[in-house]
Amino acid sequence: MHDVELSCRCGQVKGRATSIDPREGTRVVCYCKDCQAFARVLEAEASVLDACGGTDIYQLPPARLRLDQGQDRVRCLRLSAKGLYRWYAGCCNTPIGNTVSRGIPVVGLIHAFIADPAAETTLGPVRAYVNTQSATGALPEAIARQSSLFPYVVKIVRKMLVWKLTGQGRPSPFFDPDGKPLSTPQIVAPGER
Ligand SMILES: [Zn+2]
Ligand SMILES: [Zn+2]
Repeated sequence: MHDVELSCRCGQVKGRATSIDPREGTRVVCYCKDCQAFARVLEAEASVLDACGGTDIYQLPPARLRLDQGQDRVRCLRLSAKGLYRWYAGCCNTPIGNTVSRGIPVVGLIHAFIADPAAETTLGPVRAYVNTQSATGALPEAIARQSSLFPYVVKIVRKMLVWKLTGQGRPSPFFDPDGKPLSTPQIVAPGER
């Protein structure tokens, strides 16, 4: 088990992901259009997206993600009124992570906010490539040929259930105990992307 140091590009927002086990196996690359739009809105495509438009994400429960500094710099946007809460450091437009809602005990931590030289080893390998139909380029054959996502989906659903049952959905760095978001989400409509 290790901690992973987190920081935005300019260093004003800092945090830590705790108790990370490389065998946990919840690292994915998401090629969906909304993750691409998030990077585009932040003008951070070059540092966030891979050559095929993928975002490298580590899924963990909110209680294992801490923000220690710069909370007042954190901003939130949603790509529709019911879209994910997409958190980022407003000081330098570094994406931090995605949450579904306060009740769903998972954060998708975005690699751009990870500032730990040992992270590659600590987080372990990518376990699944999701929403590959929205990739913006030809995927390497090993990814295009990946077998069913079903085992991964079963695993993450089971983990989320355990996280919920063991109380790891709270505290969240993004919502106060009353459910108020750390920063009021700004809705960025399709026409503005
Ligand atoms: Zn910053
Ligand atoms: Zn996505």
